[in-house]
Amino acid sequence: MSIAEAPATEAQGASAAAQPMRLTIDAPMATTNVQSHPVAFEVRDLAVSYGPKLAVRDVNLDIRSNAVTAFIGPSGCGKSTILRCFNRMNDLIPTARVNGQVRLHGEDLNGPSVQPVDVRRRIGLVFQRPNPFPMSIYDNVAYGPRRHGEKDGKKIDQIVEDCIRRAALWDEVKDDYRRKSGLALSGGQQQRLCIARTLATEPEVILMDEPCSALDPIATLKIEDLMSDLREQVTIIIVTHNMQQAGRISDQTAFFNMGDDRAGYLVEVGNTTDIFTNPRERLTEDYVSGRFG
Ligand code: ADP
Repeated sequence: MSIAEAPATEAQGASAAAQPMRLTIDAPMATTNVQSHPVAFEVRDLAVSYGPKLAVRDVNLDIRSNAVTAFIGPSGCGKSTILRCFNRMNDLIPTARVNGQVRLHGEDLNGPSVQPVDVRRRIGLVFQRPNPFPMSIYDNVAYGPRRHGEKDGKKIDQIVEDCIRRAALWDEVKDDYRRKSGLALSGGQQQRLCIARTLATEPEVILMDEPCSALDPIATLKIEDLMSDLREQVTIIIVTHNMQQAGRISDQTAFFNMGDDRAGYLVEVGNTTDIFTNPRERLTEDYVSGRFG
């Protein structure tokens, strides 16, 4: 599946070439109807402010399990802010205030008895820039299990190997992963190491905030392939500015925009194929066809 940018033809002339690129789909995208998957997250009336500034409002959305959901929309409309609500990372921003509910399998993640540390173990986050710890590849992956009390060396060995394999990094590091520093890997390998490190705490969900924006096209494709494989085991939510990427890898897409009040809101959510080929809202069509943003 892929979405290609259809360049203006010479016959269309220079003025046509100056028009925004139009996205066309040149092969079938994911045909799965993820609306039949069980709901993992229910987001209800979510609003986030930073100090006095309302950043996002009125977000109501279901995230389907064992699927990739892409968040798209113009810069500043609140995609990362919303993503951070799924594992309580906004708790770490002193001015951030979250209202509304985010429920995982019915449990309110902001409920009084819920520990943010547990939430972040169940729901991992992969950042835009790979951030391996300054330690060996092995120790990077072993970090989470050790922190959660695992002491059995053989078991840790097994977890480390398994997670490096699942992150499609094994063949490249199997000879020296015990001594080589995570920082000595290439950018794409570092990002796969960060995914391996996230997998080691057995998350149900992995959040990814533009995980490929610092990577070259080949490293990007490897991460995309990896996401396709991982969705069998985990639920993935990815923020991406790259519409082709959203089309290639996601099953469900949520399109956000900035309102006249400068707060972000959800325009629509649906199967990726529908959002790209037959959206309900004109605004969505304008965005996915490159008319603004
Ligand atoms: P997007 O991911 O769509 O680019 P963001 O979630 O990063 O949007 O930002 C949404 C709005 O919230 C922007 O106006 C941004 O400036 C503001 N914002 C994001 N993070 C912070 C923060 N830590 N403190 C204050 N304002 C923030």
